[in-house]
Amino acid sequence: MGRLDGKVALISGGARGQGAREAEVFAAEGAKVVFGDVLDQEGRAVAERITATGGDAVYVHLDVTKDADWQQAVDLAESRYGRLDVLINNAGIARPENVEDTTEELWERVMSINTTGVFLGTRKAIPAMRRAGGGSIINLSSVAGLVGRRWAGAAYSASKGAVRIFSKATAVQYAPDKIRCNSIHPGPIQTLMLGVTDDDPALMATRTAEIPLGRIGTTDDVANGALFLASDESSWITGIELTIDGGITAQ
Ligand code: NAD
Repeated sequence: MGRLDGKVALISGGARGQGAREAEVFAAEGAKVVFGDVLDQEGRAVAERITATGGDAVYVHLDVTKDADWQQAVDLAESRYGRLDVLINNAGIARPENVEDTTEELWERVMSINTTGVFLGTRKAIPAMRRAGGGSIINLSSVAGLVGRRWAGAAYSASKGAVRIFSKATAVQYAPDKIRCNSIHPGPIQTLMLGVTDDDPALMATRTAEIPLGRIGTTDDVANGALFLASDESSWITGIELTIDGGITAQ
């Protein structure tokens, strides 16, 4: 028995990093997975990997800033798999610029992907989840959406803070429809976005020094949290901030 048997999930930004791992873990736990990204070649390769190991997943081009792309992705979930139970708003970009170095253009770009993209996906998923009798929406924020961070840019932090409170508003507004909504707040996770590798031991040591549990997070650390929030094991949990950060924000 898989923990997501019978569920259909839609994941944005699934061509690599945390989104790709979530697609793999969800499929292995019995979910049927639709996932999208702007990196079509990488996305198709992830879908092939999942189906080769017996999972059921399909890749779709999905630019999260485009309402029509979201409609197509939700339609695909319903036409191919009959329903939509889970949405992970995972796609995002990171920019390190401080306030003075952030142009209006950069600010708008980060906001449009990290915040407006979450709103558009949520807005499109809700009617489908209502048709399914309920659902679980999981929004990827960050520790930078909870506290000020030296490493996180001004626009990035603002965009992730907006995702935090948008998730709570969604949770309260749609609880009567049995649609839950929670945010995940990762600390540094070993993906291309982080830009820290073992090739730069000094930077790795600096980044690790602030983490009580003494290591950078993995895509499995986050995927396991998302799995819990997607499954019925969390059926009485909505509007929470699931911090997955090795203890950074406990200090
Ligand atoms: P990543 O860069 O490996 O993956 C991000 C994915 O989002 C990529 O596949 C990218 O193509 C996709 N994407 C970017 N713009 C898009 C768009 N317009 N439409 C659709 N897809 C788009 O990084 P990741 O670490 O896997 O990041 C996943 C999420 O976790 C992001 O929201 C990120 O902000 C958040 N996060 C990451 C870290 C970290 O340290 N890696 C920490 C906290 C939060």
